[in-house]
Amino acid sequence: MSQILTPEDINYLVVHCSASEDNVDMTSSDIHEMHLGFGWHGIGYHRVIRRSGQLEMGRPEYWAGAHVFGFNDQSVGVCMIGCHEFTDEQFNTLEATLREWRERYPKATICGHCDFSYTEKTCPNFNVADWCLSKGISVGPLQT
Ligand SMILES: [Zn+2]
Repeated sequence: MSQILTPEDINYLVVHCSASEDNVDMTSSDIHEMHLGFGWHGIGYHRVIRRSGQLEMGRPEYWAGAHVFGFNDQSVGVCMIGCHEFTDEQFNTLEATLREWRERYPKATICGHCDFSYTEKTCPNFNVADWCLSKGISVGPLQT
């Protein structure tokens, strides 16, 4: 997909996990290599948050990702490395990312991959809306 995304296109800010072992650190380039192996145009996520909390960039946000089937042309995606347990540092970086995106994409809703009804996936294995609530981050479109 080569569609160009603008902030007005973005309806969803989607949180994922890499579903890799919690004790294994992966980098954005590891995921890039894996997704190239799927025959994709490289990494499907826009951002990756490593176990250390380090933020790494994936696709530029004007380039539609490959992370949420059927909604790639209206979303951006961030991937937390791990599966079940995430580090405090990762959650801190996620908070900063979502606050930044919240400003840039005011009409978007924040959700987890599993919140899309078509999928059986449990990704990212925590309730994103509840977590946002606990951080005081509004999950729904901002009122302007
Ligand atoms: Zn996912």
